[in-house]
Amino acid sequence: MQFDDDAGLDTSEVQDVRGSRIPGGRATVGGGVAGLIALLLGLFFGVGPDQLGLSSGDEEPGASASSLAQVQQTCRTGRDANTKDDCRIVAVVNSVQDYWAQEFERRGGTYTRSPTVFFSERVGTACGTATSAVGPFYCPGDRKVYLDLGFFDELRTTFGSSGGPFAQAYVVAHEYGHHVQDLTGTLDRSQDGRTGADSNAVRVELQADCYAGVWAHHATTTKDESTGRPLITSLTEADIRDGMDAAAAVGDDRIQERFQGRVTPESWTHGSAAQRQQWFHQGYRTGDMARCDTFR
Ligand SMILES: [Zn+2]
Repeated sequence: MQFDDDAGLDTSEVQDVRGSRIPGGRATVGGGVAGLIALLLGLFFGVGPDQLGLSSGDEEPGASASSLAQVQQTCRTGRDANTKDDCRIVAVVNSVQDYWAQEFERRGGTYTRSPTVFFSERVGTACGTATSAVGPFYCPGDRKVYLDLGFFDELRTTFGSSGGPFAQAYVVAHEYGHHVQDLTGTLDRSQDGRTGADSNAVRVELQADCYAGVWAHHATTTKDESTGRPLITSLTEADIRDGMDAAAAVGDDRIQERFQGRVTPESWTHGSAAQRQQWFHQGYRTGDMARCDTFR
């Protein structure tokens, strides 16, 4: 994945609160069994505090953002995105949202841009207080994507994914898939509390994978609003394999096999490795969100 060196990055789409502390916060659930369980529960979840296992903290969302605002200082151009991990995520957020804004407009609708919050350790959200252990997630309460960049190391070490640049892009695009679902009204369908291979929860997750694929299809042709040229100038077959690999690594069956030694489809919340790959690929192949009807 390569970015146009000369394109300007829009850092207003990222809120960088890494290193800031939430006052009055409780002890961090960082590791051990509790951390792992929270991670499994929350991984790639798009939804509210119950399923995320978040505490309904009394902290204000985004409190004490005495932000170092690192990305605002260091991520200025596509050249930065080509060389720095956090700047690359900024560029992916820009590209994904440019795509959906243009696609909604084409369909006569309006896309509302939603920021990604970079945090470390723990963060206050409208969905409660989250620790890094829950993995990346989308909070419908404040319509923000939350991401601890340390998760991408986990993707490699804990989940055995290649974790390359496009694996990271897939994760970001998946979370924005939930934002799109929030705007179109399908996200609510995951809230019936059911799990299992045929559950609405799984269908919503697979649709977000498909939407990630739809963006990937258009990634090199979506025009950047500042330059009028595509921000992403090249995406290779190896990149796509990276994304497919990550989609499989976070499949429920893979995770269950790895961590509980057996596969129990009735407790699935996100879909199997094969399903996740299949829906990502369906989106990538067709480039059409109408082909992402996982409820059919
Ligand atoms: Zn998800």
